[in-house]
Amino acid sequence: MVFARTAVSDLRRAQDKADSDVEQVKARRVRTQQRLDQGQVSSPRELEALQHEITSLDRRIGDLEEAEIEVMEQLEAAETDLTEKEQRLEQVAGELTTHERSRDEALAGIDVDLEQSRAARDKIAAEIPADLMALYTRLRTNQSGVGAAELAHGRCGGCRLELNPADLRGIAAAADDDVMRCEECGRILVRTEEPKG
Ligand SMILES: [Zn+2]
Repeated sequence: MVFARTAVSDLRRAQDKADSDVEQVKARRVRTQQRLDQGQVSSPRELEALQHEITSLDRRIGDLEEAEIEVMEQLEAAETDLTEKEQRLEQVAGELTTHERSRDEALAGIDVDLEQSRAARDKIAAEIPADLMALYTRLRTNQSGVGAAELAHGRCGGCRLELNPADLRGIAAAADDDVMRCEECGRILVRTEEPKG
């Protein structure tokens, strides 16, 4: 992008110079032609010299105009290149804005979900006896944020260890509202299936 901009400004300068080069030689040709036209020059040698100068100025003008056209073509190509790059940049910036908007929407959605989960949790927590809640809170603090774990297939979902058959029998015999805990990690075990075995 910087390179493309520099190329364009360099070529614009080169074009200005080519234009003024042509103008300069053309002006000189006009002056030389005027001297011829005014008829003040009478010496044949001098007339010949002026005509010779006109011829050589015409050649020079031709060369300079050719160079001018070449610079113009290069400038046109560089401007096209710059325009394409600017459009691409604009497109990428637009895509970025779109991505940022969907990210912000997703974040807002997460905030809403979080708020709902907190509200649901608070509602459940309010129904749990204070001493059980205190135990749960203490376990959660000491056990990497997980104070209660599901007991499934004879295994504690917190520490992933299998409970021994005697413990499982004890749990099976316990009342539904008895608070059962894992012998290994101490977490509260949540019974979601009949712990037979
Ligand atoms: Zn455990």
